[in-house]
Amino acid sequence: MCIFCSIISNKIPSYKLYEDDLCLVILDISQVTQGHCLVLPKQHVETLLDVDEKTLAHLASITKKYASIIRNKTGCSGFNILNNNFESAGQTIAHLHYHIIPRYTANDNFKIEFIEHNSINIDRIYRLLTE
Ligand code: AMP
Ligand code: ZN
Repeated sequence: MCIFCSIISNKIPSYKLYEDDLCLVILDISQVTQGHCLVLPKQHVETLLDVDEKTLAHLASITKKYASIIRNKTGCSGFNILNNNFESAGQTIAHLHYHIIPRYTANDNFKIEFIEHNSINIDRIYRLLTE
């Protein structure tokens, strides 16, 4: 059983913020920024590619709701929604989850950097994706 399934079935404790039939919202044990939380489906699915449409729509709705609650309660000025899929993308727990990461300043602990890769041929990738 994965660590999030153990949390869902109350085998291990968590800082639970919200629960319904389909999903759970908990505080992330490693608070990257104050109020960092996770939205997860109760059903064990590994990645975004495995979740059914109804649960996906519900996860999106609860993610929006909790982003708003966290923003109102913490006074954060912004937030990032992050969903890592597969190991190469940094997924460490193979149970689908969305991070809600509140942002207070541009110079906090959370960094996302978009670095343009000049050697990528955009025409070739466009053909691949549209053929
Ligand atoms: P990811 O790297 O996207 O798979 O994120 C997994 C997240 O789960 C990390 O941010 C961890 O800090 C968090 N995490 C791991 N164990 C627990 C736990 N027992 N309770 C809450 N969050 C956890
Ligand atoms: Zn699981």
